[in-house]
Formats: sequence, structure tokens, C-alpha cells
Amino acid sequence: MKIKTNNLHETLDLGKKFAKKIHGGEVFVLHGDLGAGKTAFVKGVAKGLGIKKTVTSPTFILMKMYEVKGKDESKKLKGQLKKLLHIDTYRGVSEDDLINLGAMELLGRKDTVAFIEWGIGLIPYLKKSKIKVKKIIIKNIDKNTRVFEF
Ligand code: ADP
Ligand code: MG
Repeated sequence: MKIKTNNLHETLDLGKKFAKKIHGGEVFVLHGDLGAGKTAFVKGVAKGLGIKKTVTSPTFILMKMYEVKGKDESKKLKGQLKKLLHIDTYRGVSEDDLINLGAMELLGRKDTVAFIEWGIGLIPYLKKSKIKVKKIIIKNIDKNTRVFEF
């Protein structure tokens, strides 16, 4: 499925809507150039999950975790989703890094949804570890137009 956004606001909104379909246990890899809107999309997701904290790019700290308070934000969640994991592998995150960060214990867990920016290179390793990964590809069309492919 392809969805076009025409500005940052529409991408935030797309992420917000996408959040309503999250059940817990999903691992998404976000693929797209620098400035494609990977972080923006995750910001929208966080909003949709009722996370009040500001989501910032984890480029330098590699991984950030946010508590999902749930409640009535999404009835589907039924309190099972507790954490949003946001990982950025732009600076090169190895398999060992994932282990050392504690990510391997969280990825794929029912109470956690994860978004990994630049994570395509990690897919074979994650699959080997029996973690199911879904790809979201973002294409820069022009200054403000992006196409999201799910
Ligand atoms: P990434 O994490 O992919 O490097 P960011 O989400 O940090 O990208 O940044 C996206 C940048 O592109 C922001 O500066 C944002 O204002 C700009 N932008 C312009 N149009 C869009 C759009 N349609 N969707 C998302 N961001 C957009
Ligand atoms: Mg980013």
C-alpha cells in the first residue's frame, strides 16, 4: 500500500493513524534517505499511542524507549502495549550493539512495538533470531512530498 504525504503535518497525521493499527509485538524497519521523514513518522505514531513525551531522533543515543500509557487512546491495545522502542542505526548499529542495548530482549515482545530507522541491514540477523520484521519505505519525491510504502 502506498500513501503520499504533502507536508510534515500529513506525515505526523499518517503516523498517528498508523498507531491505531498497532497491536504490540511488531518490529518495523524504516527505510528512506536522510530527511525522508522516518523520525517524523515515529513522532506521529507516538502521538497516536498517547505518548506525551517529545520523540527526538535517537541518532546519537541509538535507542530510546517510551512508556505507552494506553487507556482509551486505542481500544485495541487493551493495555498490552507498554513500550515504544525507537532505534536509529544511522551511525552503524551492529548485532552486538542490539544485544548490548538490551534491544534483543524487547524486539518482538507483545508489550513492545519497535521502529528501527536505517535498519535494513539488520533484517537478516533479526530474521535469524526469529523476529518478524515489516518494512516501511519512504521515498522523497520533492521538497515536501513523500511516498510511504507499507
Ligand atoms: P529522517 O528521520 O528520515 O532523517 P526527519 O523526520 O528527521 O527525517 O526529517 C524530515 C524533514 O523533512 C523535516 O525537516 C520535515 O520538516 C521535512 N519534510 C518536508 N516534507 C515532509 C513530509 N511530507 N513528511 C515528513 N517530513 C517532511
Ligand atoms: Mg531520523
